[in-house]
Amino acid sequence: MYADIIIDISVENLDRTYQYRVPEHLSGCIGAGDRVIIPFGKGDRKIKGYIVGLSDAPKIPEEKIKDIESLCPGNISLDDKMISLAFWMKEHFGSTANDALKTVIPVKRVIKNKVNRTILPALPLPALMGAAEKAEKRHWSAKERLLKELITEYDSGLNYELVTDKLNILPATIKALEKDGTIKIESSLAYRNYAGAAIADALEEGIGKNVELNKEQRAVSDSIISDIRSGINGKYLIHGITGSGKTEVYLAVIDEVIRQGKSVIMLIPEIALTYQTVKRFYKRFGEGISVLNSRMSAGERYDQYLRAKNGDTKIVIGPRSAVFTPFDNLGLIIIDEEHEGSYKSENSPRYNTRDVAARRAETEGAALILGSATPSLESYCAACAGRIKLFELEKRAGEAELPTVYVADLKEELKAKNRSIFSRKLKELIADRLQKQEQVMLFINRRGHSGFVNCRSCGHVIKCPHCDVSLTYHNNGKLVCHYCGFERDMVKCCPECGSPYIKAFGTGTQKVEELLKAEFPTARVLRMDHDTTKQKESYDEILSKFSDHEADILVGTQMIVKGHDFHRVTLVGILLADMSLYSEDFRSAEKTFELLSQAAGRAGRGNAKGAVVIQTYNPEHYAVVAAAAHDYKSFYNEEMGFRRLMNYPPSWNILKVMISGGDAESLKREVNRIAPCIKGIIGERKPGTGHAVKLFGPSEEKIFKLNDTYRYSAYLKSDDYAELVRIKDRLTTYTPEDKGVAIQFDFNPV
Ligand code: ADP
Ligand code: ZN
Ligand code: ZN
Repeated sequence: MYADIIIDISVENLDRTYQYRVPEHLSGCIGAGDRVIIPFGKGDRKIKGYIVGLSDAPKIPEEKIKDIESLCPGNISLDDKMISLAFWMKEHFGSTANDALKTVIPVKRVIKNKVNRTILPALPLPALMGAAEKAEKRHWSAKERLLKELITEYDSGLNYELVTDKLNILPATIKALEKDGTIKIESSLAYRNYAGAAIADALEEGIGKNVELNKEQRAVSDSIISDIRSGINGKYLIHGITGSGKTEVYLAVIDEVIRQGKSVIMLIPEIALTYQTVKRFYKRFGEGISVLNSRMSAGERYDQYLRAKNGDTKIVIGPRSAVFTPFDNLGLIIIDEEHEGSYKSENSPRYNTRDVAARRAETEGAALILGSATPSLESYCAACAGRIKLFELEKRAGEAELPTVYVADLKEELKAKNRSIFSRKLKELIADRLQKQEQVMLFINRRGHSGFVNCRSCGHVIKCPHCDVSLTYHNNGKLVCHYCGFERDMVKCCPECGSPYIKAFGTGTQKVEELLKAEFPTARVLRMDHDTTKQKESYDEILSKFSDHEADILVGTQMIVKGHDFHRVTLVGILLADMSLYSEDFRSAEKTFELLSQAAGRAGRGNAKGAVVIQTYNPEHYAVVAAAAHDYKSFYNEEMGFRRLMNYPPSWNILKVMISGGDAESLKREVNRIAPCIKGIIGERKPGTGHAVKLFGPSEEKIFKLNDTYRYSAYLKSDDYAELVRIKDRLTTYTPEDKGVAIQFDFNPV
């Protein structure tokens, strides 16, 4: 027997299968999907690899084939459908097979489970009491302590660790009692389950209470459920304004899928995966859910993986990597807030979770639901073209109404001599809400105390030595690079000209917090940004505090915008809408519209009507106008026109070819060789296919140097995705002369 193996080294020219012999001692106990150790290369270096297939015919002369050495310790076997998903991803998104295989395995190795041990009585109560008396008489004080405690907890038994720690009883004593048949020890697998606070609160509020769906919601859930019952595994987009009750629709559909004995993957952007979401799911489904997030330890993640694999959980809730949960009978994948950028992976393979989910749903016979208040242009376009079934929820569920939106023109504020960062309207409304004891959220699209640091005398800007970006001043007196994490002390004078007039510019969350306290001294202010949420729990803690009305105002970055549902919030202020409007990204208008709509959606989720103040220098921009009017469709039409005109996605597809290396000179030479090569490959396309391909670049990235790596990129645009895949495939055979140069791909970058 021979095995085809993908070796665990991600280099393009080793990106193929290698054949090895399955030795006697391993035959019958390994197969496709197993991770093994193999000798590789001239020196027979021991490396790891994945078996992706078995065969009984040698592909090269028998004597050249080496033996597999052993199974990897802690091996987690991949099943066939995940292997083929990995190969599809390699092809569709451009990566090595090794990177693709690693991506579809959410955990890397077996991590030993914690075991819960319980000490239980092995005798009837009177006999146990007799044993305790006997121990007392003989002055066996440890045995006496244990048995007396066990008598008081006769039915439930005692936790093993509690007995050894609190009662100070030696394991040997316990063993002796077990041996003479007085007690018995029961072990059960303890899964480490994250989300303790959410679950505790859910239990307190009661499990199993369901909301009665309104007519709009019922129409959507009925339609999807009836498809599922008749075996149609459709794709659906639920476009529902914030607060329209999409989550309740998901819950209803999930309920049906679970009833059929199938499993569900519920994807939520990490940032919105809060205790509130977990609480809602737990209240509905109790122990049946399991939660994944990136803050979990490897052990916690492994447990959730195991629960899914063993069928001990039917619903997995998590961010994008949860799409690879190894369920055997997948019935449904839901992608909530499907427009979120975090659904695109920034590591090779740079997959789009939407596409992977659609692929899994198709091949495994599951349904796919996308949901958003501001669908991505891609999804809405697919719905308009009939590739996805569209549902619209146009009213807020329950009693809540859409908030009134005020647009404050900051140019006018300055004319009126208002130099504060709060417009007059915003100040007036904040004061009003504080007086009514309602809550306020203020949103700013930036973090840190202030922006970049520059010299007022010569204009010199303090930059990161590893990246072509300016450092950002933080309140602790440090300058930080937001790209690589580099940190240094704030400078006292300009390193160029020695001038002492060197200062930080801009407004960040900390600054807003300070200004708020100056303006409204009695207000209780909470701040949430990357700096205050570094610890595992602090994110949930801040939200939970705000939810319990321990603060009046929450100031934050985009983190506070996503999917939270605070009933007492009746005012949302967006301090500067323009921040994201004029970046060079072709999606910047879409991102701005999204941010404004989502932020506005936080206001007035309860019974009181909410208000939103959007502060901007560009009140006439279509993204601002449409967001203020809660008008997705007119935004979509305007933006789609722009995308068509410019051949941007979703009208056309883009392949970004990234060429990077550590040496600027030799990289430049390499780029000069690759450029004509790309043109040649474009020219090879079959005549008469009619698909145009346009090439832009290669040229230097806007941030040319990042993490000590220099970067070029070329953009190829085509209306035909397959043609771009062909060009990618041809380019992977290109071998750079400089071994330090890497070529990577990104389809439809975000
Ligand atoms: P979305 O996911 O669209 O933002 P949610 O499902 O979070 O909306 O619902 C918003 C709020 O309305 C929640 O507090 C939810 O409990 C409530 N809600 C949803 N559906 C109903 C309903 N049919 N009746 C009463 N309240 C509802
Ligand atoms: Zn200077
Ligand atoms: Zn840096």
